[in-house]
Amino acid sequence: NSVLKIEDLHVKVGETPILTGVNLEVKQGEIHALMGPNGSGKSTLAYALMGHPKYEITHGKIEIGGVDLAELDACERARLGLFLAFQYPVTIPGVKVADFLRLAISNIRNPERKEGENLMPMREFRTELRQTMDQLNMDSEFARRYLNDGFSGGEKKRMEILQLAMLKPKFAILDETDSGLDSDAVRVVSEGLAKLSGPEMGVLIITHHERLLEYNEPQFTHVMLAGKIVETGDASLARELHENGYTEVRKRHPEEA
Ligand code: ADP
Ligand code: MG
Ligand code: MG
Repeated sequence: NSVLKIEDLHVKVGETPILTGVNLEVKQGEIHALMGPNGSGKSTLAYALMGHPKYEITHGKIEIGGVDLAELDACERARLGLFLAFQYPVTIPGVKVADFLRLAISNIRNPERKEGENLMPMREFRTELRQTMDQLNMDSEFARRYLNDGFSGGEKKRMEILQLAMLKPKFAILDETDSGLDSDAVRVVSEGLAKLSGPEMGVLIITHHERLLEYNEPQFTHVMLAGKIVETGDASLARELHENGYTEVRKRHPEEA
């Protein structure tokens, strides 16, 4: 079983330090929730995990199965089993959902692949896609849509869940805004994730959504304040935060409040 290990991570954006010593370990099969007030640095952690060039790691490290991610690009990170779903997925003009998934799968499964070559055989891919979409009760028409072109909130989430199901990562990081999700979108992620998570997948859910965490009860809940994880508990900590917000947590950690 592999581990995603974040050790004393310091990240700055431009000249501003945002993360100031984050420690976190996610094992395959575990569900972790990361919560915290707006601006505390949750998305910054997700971007640093992805290797976004704007987010500079000034100290500490991120490892998967003992491999340091520092020098690896997003594609190499994906090959190690890391998957990141984002708050605002981009639109790629002219690319259909199925084409994108075939490319992504081919990149992950065949490290020697050169651009434009060695795509996963179409027949094999189609079969796998159809089975996966059946499993998720998704209309096959969705695979023929252009990527994110006019996608509703729920459709963006269907894309995210379909990607997750096809790529079968060891570690999935889901950064879910709380404001931008309608009830259809929340249902898609909640049910989809519940279907897909299991002993092979470690999940880090960044969210406040009660429903998401009810469907996918975290073994660990972490609270971030001012760029640090200040508390870790179980699912009851998430419930406490849903009820009371961050006032009490801030009182317990005046130095980060
Ligand atoms: P959260 O996801 O917890 O709401 P963020 O990680 O988005 O928090 O933001 C943490 C802090 O870092 C905020 O003060 C935000 O303004 C700043 N920040 C994050 N990304 C950038 C960026 N690309 N450019 C400038 N400031 C940023
Ligand atoms: Mg935010
Ligand atoms: Mg955020």
